[in-house]
Amino acid sequence: MKVLKFGGTSVGSPETMRAVMDLITDGEQKIVVLSAMSGTTNTLVEISGYLRKKNKDTARIFIGNLEVKYKKVVNELFSSDENKKLGLKVVGESFNTIKSFTSGNFGEVGENTILAQGELISTQLFALLMNENDYNTELLPALDFMRIDEDKAAETQFIRKNIKTVLKEVGEADYYITQGFICRNANNEIDNLQRGGSDYTASLIGAAIEAEEIQIWTDIDGFHNNDPRFVENTKKIDHLSFYEAAELAYFGAKILHPQTVLPARVSNIPVRLKNTMNPTDEGTLITAESDGKGIKAVAAKDGISAVKIRSGRMLMAYGFLKNIFEIFEKYKTPIDMISTSEVAVSITIDNTQNLAEIRKELDKFGIVEVDSNMSIVCIVGDIIQEETGFASKVFRALDGIPIRMISYGGSRYNISVLVPTSHKKETLQALSNNLLNS
Ligand code: ADP
Ligand code: ASP
Ligand code: MG
Repeated sequence: MKVLKFGGTSVGSPETMRAVMDLITDGEQKIVVLSAMSGTTNTLVEISGYLRKKNKDTARIFIGNLEVKYKKVVNELFSSDENKKLGLKVVGESFNTIKSFTSGNFGEVGENTILAQGELISTQLFALLMNENDYNTELLPALDFMRIDEDKAAETQFIRKNIKTVLKEVGEADYYITQGFICRNANNEIDNLQRGGSDYTASLIGAAIEAEEIQIWTDIDGFHNNDPRFVENTKKIDHLSFYEAAELAYFGAKILHPQTVLPARVSNIPVRLKNTMNPTDEGTLITAESDGKGIKAVAAKDGISAVKIRSGRMLMAYGFLKNIFEIFEKYKTPIDMISTSEVAVSITIDNTQNLAEIRKELDKFGIVEVDSNMSIVCIVGDIIQEETGFASKVFRALDGIPIRMISYGGSRYNISVLVPTSHKKETLQALSNNLLNS
């Protein structure tokens, strides 16, 4: 069985939902993972923001506008009055849930419950549409099998076991529809896999059922060699290895949620990226093999802070790095890049939630400086294939860019540079002009 995931724009209007229905109904049994309709999760985040700030009146206005939009969708989506009524019931129930948070206290559980409504609505409406068109379809409630632990890591064993139970419970169908993004956490509360998480849902399900292929359908023809939101003349890549795709996704290529590749790689399931607007195009295939073509693509991750610790004591001292790393570990803050010299160490992080505490503890070991608003630009390919000259090619391409840190040799697949975010676009464009397209 294949697992197909359709993103927000693919289910962004009644027309595109019907196009997805036509696309998936080829008689082959499949699991279809859907995101919320495009824009919905952003609006739900905004609503939650107002509720957090106790600005309930503004929250109510946003909720009202979104509900009007969904009522219109229902009216346009279904043919029969009976299904229009059922669709309005789905919408009404979700909006009652959202509205219930406009009185009383509002915290994380409330916010995650509100954020989940986008996927809950899109999947129920889509399943109803499928049934109205006589396709044998069942909904798989993601909240019954998707779970994360205390550290927000996916509980793969739990998912594997429970999706099988849910599949049995709902019974045989040609098409199974389920929610991307949403899950339960260790306290059994509604939670999510972070923004863009529907891709990750699809790969977790793919691995759990040992799918034949995981397909991520979106609004572009596949993985491009640079970020098309910032750079002109990007080109589609036909094939990437799991390692290459994982590096690019982790370092900011928005087309894939950062963790999507891991479950597929572990279970060796091919991932194909496809364009809903151009379904006959082959898209990008991601598999275990590397086709050894040297430098493949670049990506950039924003919101990075560089922390530098300068210490006279580091000179010839062992245990210094261990002490530093233990502080980051204590505050559950992952480190992306590291660079050391005799007297200083620079580290980058993207989670600055505990930076104040981390900084206080680092003060014991030396003088601490923090540079915020930085971006990691990651250049990916099979470096071995380039043999000599890889680094020099990259540095020639980046002539004139203020590079704050460099990481090379950590893996066979990437070289990363840290630049101020204000120079990100220029850096990406320079790499396209002088490295990828030359
Ligand atoms: P969806 O809602 O379907 O999940 P996303 O917006 O999350 O879609 O991802 C698709 C978008 O990712 C593309 O429209 C494109 O702008 C952006 N993107 C960023 N980097 C890349 C890349 N390297 N290749 C292709 N698309 C990219
Ligand atoms: N709807 C969620 C989001 O916008 C998940 C997703 O689209 O993948 O982040
Ligand atoms: Mg996405």
